[in-house]
Amino acid sequence: MTYYDADRETLDRGALRGIQDEKLCQLMAELPRNPFYRRKLEAAGVDPLSIRSGDQLPELPFTTKAELVESQKRHPPYGELLTYPISEYGYLHQTSGTSGSPLLWLDREEDWATWVRCWGHVFRGAGVGDDDVVFCAFSFGPYVAHWSALAGARAIGALGLPGSAMTSLQRLERIFEHRATVVVSTPTYALHLAEVAQDNGLDLASSAIRVTIHAGEPGASVPNVKRRIEEAWGARTFDHAGATEVGAWGFDCLADDQAIHLNELEFLFEVIDPDNGEEVEEGARGEVVITTLGRAGMPVVRYRTGDVVVRTNEPCSCGRRLSRIEGGILGRADDMLIVRGVNVYPSAIDNLIRSLPEIVEYQVEIRRERSLDDLSLQIEVLPGNPFEAVEQTLHEAFRSKLNIRVAIVEAEAGSLPRFELKARRFRRVGGAGSE
Ligand SMILES: [Zn+2]
Repeated sequence: MTYYDADRETLDRGALRGIQDEKLCQLMAELPRNPFYRRKLEAAGVDPLSIRSGDQLPELPFTTKAELVESQKRHPPYGELLTYPISEYGYLHQTSGTSGSPLLWLDREEDWATWVRCWGHVFRGAGVGDDDVVFCAFSFGPYVAHWSALAGARAIGALGLPGSAMTSLQRLERIFEHRATVVVSTPTYALHLAEVAQDNGLDLASSAIRVTIHAGEPGASVPNVKRRIEEAWGARTFDHAGATEVGAWGFDCLADDQAIHLNELEFLFEVIDPDNGEEVEEGARGEVVITTLGRAGMPVVRYRTGDVVVRTNEPCSCGRRLSRIEGGILGRADDMLIVRGVNVYPSAIDNLIRSLPEIVEYQVEIRRERSLDDLSLQIEVLPGNPFEAVEQTLHEAFRSKLNIRVAIVEAEAGSLPRFELKARRFRRVGGAGSE
């Protein structure tokens, strides 16, 4: 097994708790300097200095993304979220804004070190080491994944190749030219690169790529998406979970194909029932809530990620005692669809569609009427496959696997959008109560 920090990753959970509590106390001691949290905790009647352990987290109020956005709107550009004077900060990043207004996020050198360590875990968890050449296929801009992945690659001694500001074909050429062994991208973009490779007669499986690592979307934990990426690249695919305002909080390991580890060395995790805010039992589905332990410059405390997970604290056969989430991120709490009375997450639909190799790309339109969702699906079919046959197979799969009916129409080859950063394949349209 390969570790980033073998001693601490394999600590028993009691000792791990000790490390977390110590870091939590340090964070709580800084919060009175942070205008956003000073106000928030005063309003809740909580003295942060009275919080000495992770068990006391429920005494603290939740933080929502809407509050952070509101603070930056009222007090532009950074809101009241900075703990220290601006002169102490050196890094600025921005969220993609896929789910609402973009947020600006600042880090000091020591906060940024959290990001670097987090990506150290992501890479070492996937068995990546100093012999590897890591190609990062992200856009050039303020999105944090590009910068943090490159910094993490260098931190573990690998050679980091920035792959921004290039066309897909240029990226592929660079991957071959430098004999890159690892590619980091969104899962969607990995599939897109595979498509471009095929169109240009490049055989990806003959490249030196042996590992693909994915960020930005839950796809790499969706079994049929993962399988497709692995087949197209002739590589092993690893998932990771992260958010600009939190960090790269989850990472995959070599032992467990079905789950990803929570990085409990850098964050405190809770899994709650999104309706009442109570912690759910281990093994039950809930929303993951995160407290950053190492980013005091711009911290989040009990941050509602909206990501739905199932947590297990069972030891992993990789030797790590860090908890895992089964199947990675299962979906977003606010993304759940109700189709003719059946609750279904977009990731389940993604998994189903990706089980059919004849489907190249797709888009789903969601029309909500009287709090029920109607789905209509556009699909691009691989040339040489009759649409009617694919349509029938897909109808049958929706009926047998998810027990729902969807309308399916054919889209012209190459007409549906391709995505580089985050895919937007599910769109709400018309109907009452739509966005
Ligand atoms: Zn493991």
